[in-house]
Amino acid sequence: MSERIRPKPGILDIPLYEGGQSRVPGLGEVVKLSSNENPFGASEAAVEAVRRSAHQLHRYPSSDHAELRAAIAAVHGLDTERVICGVGSDEIITFLCQTYAAPGDEVVHSAHGFLMYRISALAAGATPVEVPERDRTADPEAILAACTERTKLVFLANPNNPTGTMLDAATVADLAARLPPAAILVLDGAYAEYVEDFDGGAALVDARENVVMTRTFSKIYGLGGLRVGWGYGPGDIIAALSRVRGPFNLATVQQETAIAALADKDHVEKCRAENARMREWLAQALAEIGVPADPSHANFILARFGDAAEAEACDAHLKSQGLIVRRVGAYGLPHCLRITVGDEPSCRRVAHSVAQFKGLR
Ligand SMILES: *Cc1c(COP(=O)(O)O)cnc(C)c1O
Repeated sequence: MSERIRPKPGILDIPLYEGGQSRVPGLGEVVKLSSNENPFGASEAAVEAVRRSAHQLHRYPSSDHAELRAAIAAVHGLDTERVICGVGSDEIITFLCQTYAAPGDEVVHSAHGFLMYRISALAAGATPVEVPERDRTADPEAILAACTERTKLVFLANPNNPTGTMLDAATVADLAARLPPAAILVLDGAYAEYVEDFDGGAALVDARENVVMTRTFSKIYGLGGLRVGWGYGPGDIIAALSRVRGPFNLATVQQETAIAALADKDHVEKCRAENARMREWLAQALAEIGVPADPSHANFILARFGDAAEAEACDAHLKSQGLIVRRVGAYGLPHCLRITVGDEPSCRRVAHSVAQFKGLR
């Protein structure tokens, strides 16, 4: 190891992101409920698009993503020119930090917010600022109190992961209006499709100069393995982000599959309806055995236990039953388990196993 070759300051302070587990040693069949994946998978039309695009492998992909941006804009009623596509919405978050947050600048996120905000801010050399929440819900007054003239980005996932809670449109609009002039409000809408009649903040983006929305194909579209996300914002911000975007960041297969997925509205509707039905069922089943959760607006619930030890023990019991859920100590919630809403058999198995753990069955 060379003494002189060293990463830039701060790089080694970045916590390594740990994804949801997908295996239990010794168990073959497991149910993975640890990464908020769609239990119904991708649309058949998307799978077919993957096959079709195999014939294009020797061609470079579209660099401007024109067709994908047009398809996104048509489905959501947006201005095509102000859509930018990335390798998951993670890449849009990275673009935002690279473009707006320099060393000395601050990037605000809520205490139980998505870990990538902090990681991307540190990678850009900026300073992440964590703001306390109120009852596991983002607190706009606390966010505003944490802002300074150095604040460049304020990240708010709405609904939030891993809490499942969200702020209403009026509250978010008020927050955007009261931010310091140099700050951008980033509304992360990874779970927006799970909320009935919700635009993810698109109208607020159109109404203001300081709001950006990020979205993904990883959740309701069931394409987490494909890595496609996008952002929507004011023209000048999107133009700046486009300077740091690699020209061939999205492969042809990513672009064409995402377009096919967008067109299958029946699949999205079915996934939304089934998620809502099983989410209520699971939350109720767990509440009845003394494991409460905040009302969730996403495709998971955050189950609360008496303390961290109980959550850990329940997690171990679920694992022994082949059920993998997510421990969320890294999100400041060691007494909770985040459970993705699976299909009906999976939800029933989770409820049964938690009841077993509680000694009730
Ligand atoms: C899952 C998730 C994303 C999606 O990330 P991708 O890179 O698009 O897969 C973004 N934000 C939050 C809060 C998430 O939970």
